[in-house]
Amino acid sequence: MGLPEVYCSVCGASFGNPYDSLVDDPNTAYLVQGHTNHDFEVSKTRPPDIRNADVTFQWLHDAQLFGIPSSLETSEELKPVVYADMPAYKRTDEHPAFFGDPYCHYGEGNVFHLGGRTYPTHYPINNGDILFAMHSNCANIIKRVFVAKQDGVIAKDGLPTLRAYYDKLRQQCPGYVDEWWNIYWPHEYYGACDYWGYDEWEYAKGCQKFLVDPLHDKNLTAFVLEVLKPAQPREEAPLLLSKTSNRRTSGLDSLPTEIIDQVVALLPTASALSLRLVSSTFATRIQLTQRFFREQLLGGNLVPYLWDLDVKACRDMQQGVPEGEDPDWYWDWRQLTRYLNDVASIVEHDPDSSGIPRGFWNRCRLWLTVVEAEVW
Ligand SMILES: [Zn+2]
Repeated sequence: MGLPEVYCSVCGASFGNPYDSLVDDPNTAYLVQGHTNHDFEVSKTRPPDIRNADVTFQWLHDAQLFGIPSSLETSEELKPVVYADMPAYKRTDEHPAFFGDPYCHYGEGNVFHLGGRTYPTHYPINNGDILFAMHSNCANIIKRVFVAKQDGVIAKDGLPTLRAYYDKLRQQCPGYVDEWWNIYWPHEYYGACDYWGYDEWEYAKGCQKFLVDPLHDKNLTAFVLEVLKPAQPREEAPLLLSKTSNRRTSGLDSLPTEIIDQVVALLPTASALSLRLVSSTFATRIQLTQRFFREQLLGGNLVPYLWDLDVKACRDMQQGVPEGEDPDWYWDWRQLTRYLNDVASIVEHDPDSSGIPRGFWNRCRLWLTVVEAEVW
């Protein structure tokens, strides 16, 4: 592969298997024993922290370009990546879109091939617009951040729109500098590109965490259930949530608690909290209990980067309580939510010593870089 000249605008890794150039090098052969084209197969001779099977590189091959549609020299073949939960694409649009179809792949220098044409990236094209190269999975995380903002799951402050994020990327991209095209993030989360030597990925303990697929982590559910502990002290069900309450009410206030619970579980947390302000009855019936945090968390309303959490496994776990305990109040979902919501704290921990799954750690790193892009 040699020294990459373009790094992903989001994660800092290059495009392709970083060990491609090492296959024939006897000095580093231990790193690539069992190497196939895309996957890094398990080998007992590898250093311990890359022995796990979660280090696969297929996702590093899948690229997309991010830019303003109206500035692209388009062909009929060029199609945007359409996300059902984002605004419809228009070819003349001044709002940025992701392009990856037909297959987008890295050429050389700063050039990517896409839809029968070649496009320079990280360098001003028409009207000073810039196309940014990124992995498809990193683009997907950007999309998820702005859908979470759009849906009110996270605050809109900072960079409120995808366009604002694009403008920030453009501001951080000075074009051709120091023999490569790059984004100059001053934050330390960019990470991956620091491990490139002159012509190879330089192995250093812990560096593999930057290369683990951030979109899919099969270890996430087990980790979350490990963090979930019994509440201390145990909570009691508030009397006002009692199903047998026969207090006289009217209108919305008269809805059964079960219906209110179901409605609240479907709302973004900010909306659920606003609903508490509607009336004193709602304020008492929508309590910030373990049940509230559990339903908000499992409904995806509280922590928007748990998309591959196995909700059924979590509910099964919830039911497994010692005899005499109420499953609704036994577990500390509030504490779990507090832990998972602190994305900066998760990123500060080393996944290999903390037990945080590396894919989830990498996801949190990238989420942080997008959410906080305005401050860098
Ligand atoms: Zn990336």
